[in-house]
Amino acid sequence: MGRLPPPDKLTELLADVAVMVRPQKGKGRVADYIPALSQVSPDRFGMTVITVGGEESSTGDANIPFSLQSITKVPALILALNTNGDEIWERVGKEPSGTPFNYLAQLEAEHGIPRNPFVNAGALTVTDYLIDRLGNPAGAVRDFLKIVSQTDDVWIDETVAESEFGHAYQNKAIANILALHGTINNDPDLVLKAYCRQCAIHMSVVALTRAFLPLASGGFSPILGESVVTTRIARRVNALMMMCGMYDAVGSFAYRVGLPAKSGVGGGIVAIAPGVASIGVWAPELDRSGNSLLGTLALEQFVQATDLSLL
Ligand code: GLU
Repeated sequence: MGRLPPPDKLTELLADVAVMVRPQKGKGRVADYIPALSQVSPDRFGMTVITVGGEESSTGDANIPFSLQSITKVPALILALNTNGDEIWERVGKEPSGTPFNYLAQLEAEHGIPRNPFVNAGALTVTDYLIDRLGNPAGAVRDFLKIVSQTDDVWIDETVAESEFGHAYQNKAIANILALHGTINNDPDLVLKAYCRQCAIHMSVVALTRAFLPLASGGFSPILGESVVTTRIARRVNALMMMCGMYDAVGSFAYRVGLPAKSGVGGGIVAIAPGVASIGVWAPELDRSGNSLLGTLALEQFVQATDLSLL
């Protein structure tokens, strides 16, 4: 695995990456199946790298909060694992799905057991689990992200949450199949509402990259000076991100970038270089799999320049 350049050179490199990816603008599409997300400017681009020593470098719109969407599935899983160890695995698998994030047929064929915690069916199951244990999963995830990033500017955008809930026809079907098979215990609408609120958490790329830093340093937060998760949980969450974090593009992402990562339809991606750094990027235009088009390209360019790929 490669090494990062010193902070001033790293900031220059990020600025170079931003210039390199710019010609691809206009080739993707901002998510519009959640109407509130379509209001975001497609021109945004922000990127941050934070080393395990706590040094931060950024470029572009890295301080503007955006909708995390599926990226929140990672802290939700961390809370579930922190709450009760391996219990969640009785209801959710750990295998890549090879299907879009909201695919229904696979869930039906597999008797209501989601492939992994990062497809929507799996994330809804984690939400259900957290409702029983923590009461308010979205609030718990928001508070966790606030604490780990040491940032106050982390909030649930209720307009985005309501916009998603009002149009969540596919996710409603998924929640109902989960209830039919007894994978979730609570009312499907209640679980879906909590899930939409969790997905509607907003924070900046800088704050997001800070929040994920413990996954790069064996569970230890250099910002808090204490462990946020055990080394074992950090390793396992990274494994799940590597195999399931980028939906049905997980193979091509491993081919191009070679790091565990999680994306969201808000256009964010956060990647982990274990032992070295966390890397966040935000660019709202998505490719056909629902991953940030410029974000993926930026990570590819960054990893090529630093040789940080794990593979
Ligand atoms: N809230 C979104 C959904 O369920 C999350 C999808 C994503 O970010 O990939 O459709």
